[in-house]
Amino acid sequence: MHRFDRKSKRLSWKILSYALQRIRRDYPLDRGRTPDELRQAAGVTITPTGIGGKRALQLWRDVLAPTCITVDHPRFLAYVPSAPTEAAGLFDVAVSAANVYAGSWQEGSGAVFAENEALRWLADVAGFSATAGGVFVSGGTAGNLSALIAARWNWRHHANGAYDNVRGVIIASRGTHSSIVQSARAMDADVIWVDTDPCGRMTGVATQFVIDTLSEHDKLRVFAIVATGGTTNVGVVDDLSGVGDCARNLNTWFHVDAAYGGAGLIAPSVRHLFNGIEHADSYIVDPHKWLFAPFDCCALLYANPQIARAAHTQHAEYLDSLHQDDAWNPSDYAHHLSRRARGLPFWFSLATYGTNEYQRSVEVTLDVTRAAARQISAHPDLELVMFPELSIVIFRRIGWSADQYYAWSDKVLNDGVAFVTPTTWQNEIMLRLCIVNPLTCAQDIATVLGTLK
Ligand SMILES: *Cc1c(COP(=O)(O)O)cnc(C)c1O
Repeated sequence: MHRFDRKSKRLSWKILSYALQRIRRDYPLDRGRTPDELRQAAGVTITPTGIGGKRALQLWRDVLAPTCITVDHPRFLAYVPSAPTEAAGLFDVAVSAANVYAGSWQEGSGAVFAENEALRWLADVAGFSATAGGVFVSGGTAGNLSALIAARWNWRHHANGAYDNVRGVIIASRGTHSSIVQSARAMDADVIWVDTDPCGRMTGVATQFVIDTLSEHDKLRVFAIVATGGTTNVGVVDDLSGVGDCARNLNTWFHVDAAYGGAGLIAPSVRHLFNGIEHADSYIVDPHKWLFAPFDCCALLYANPQIARAAHTQHAEYLDSLHQDDAWNPSDYAHHLSRRARGLPFWFSLATYGTNEYQRSVEVTLDVTRAAARQISAHPDLELVMFPELSIVIFRRIGWSADQYYAWSDKVLNDGVAFVTPTTWQNEIMLRLCIVNPLTCAQDIATVLGTLK
């Protein structure tokens, strides 16, 4: 079973040429089907004797794949899309073929070395010191949880046991991503909320205001303050230097969630918004969002990785041979053990095209977003709600009810025109475009806006 026989050799080429086509050709937007429709269309797929690779590939290519919405379509503008480069997508195939175990230096040194090169670049663009380091995890959710576990370990460690049975507190804003609340739930910690300014930004002043209302005991329970470098809903960057100052004054961990917006660190036109990130204890950015890598890939960086290592290293008799020297083991820096070398497609793309191309591509998406804002402002039936700070723009269709927004969203997807979903901002349903694909052009935006009649 482990090797194709002579007859099946052609199947290898079929699979590879499908992969190549899928990466190279423009694919339609496609749309989902119900479980019943898929059951009907796919038939029985798992049988005692197997349906054969040819049939299984056909099933994927002709029946299943077309029911998955094409995330890298230039008019996929919902949620946060993903737009891998050809180099990144193809190299992901190579990474799968090599099946490297990238949890330890012992087993995956070259892969870990290359991942660390990419992490180093991400540390440098944030202004982290030479001793910074981290690991690629599956996504922002895993990255935030792992960073907060390190933060809590640090808090308890410095209390010499005094807080071992004390519930910790995370200070975050109403604009933070849902994964911060989910992390708090998983860790059985409390979240104390900071109200945002009218743009959805967490400021240092508002953070200090909340800290000042806390009892002395509650102040001691705070193990992390989280700011967001590009909120997911509207793409606003928090006052990182102000919030960071609050964290330093309170002597607590400062985490920056830049899962979506971190690409802005390499774009000269918006880099200043991130000033203060250099003082963070940890930060995350998802290359699978706006840095042109395929799913799933989040870079998690720590200013002092030794703390993360103390918090996350797993100890077991059979693992001890991994820890005999000072080797860099990616497993030690997050809540995981086995891991694929998921940073390699990103590294390969970065190495192939160079950082200048990355910078240029991010600026292209920012330019198109600004053009979208201007088109919306000029449109008689639309109203721009906020000028975009990064690459998310929110706006109203004047006079529409929630039902009309949802009906329009369904229609343009069914027509294969675009994927745009409504959002809620300040208790009002409206539309939101998120642009991370350098192939999305002003004409694509005009096409979408043209359907809002
Ligand atoms: C997308 C996002 C996350 C979650 O990332 P996943 O990769 O989907 O787990 C966390 N924080 C922010 C700000 C995000 O935009």
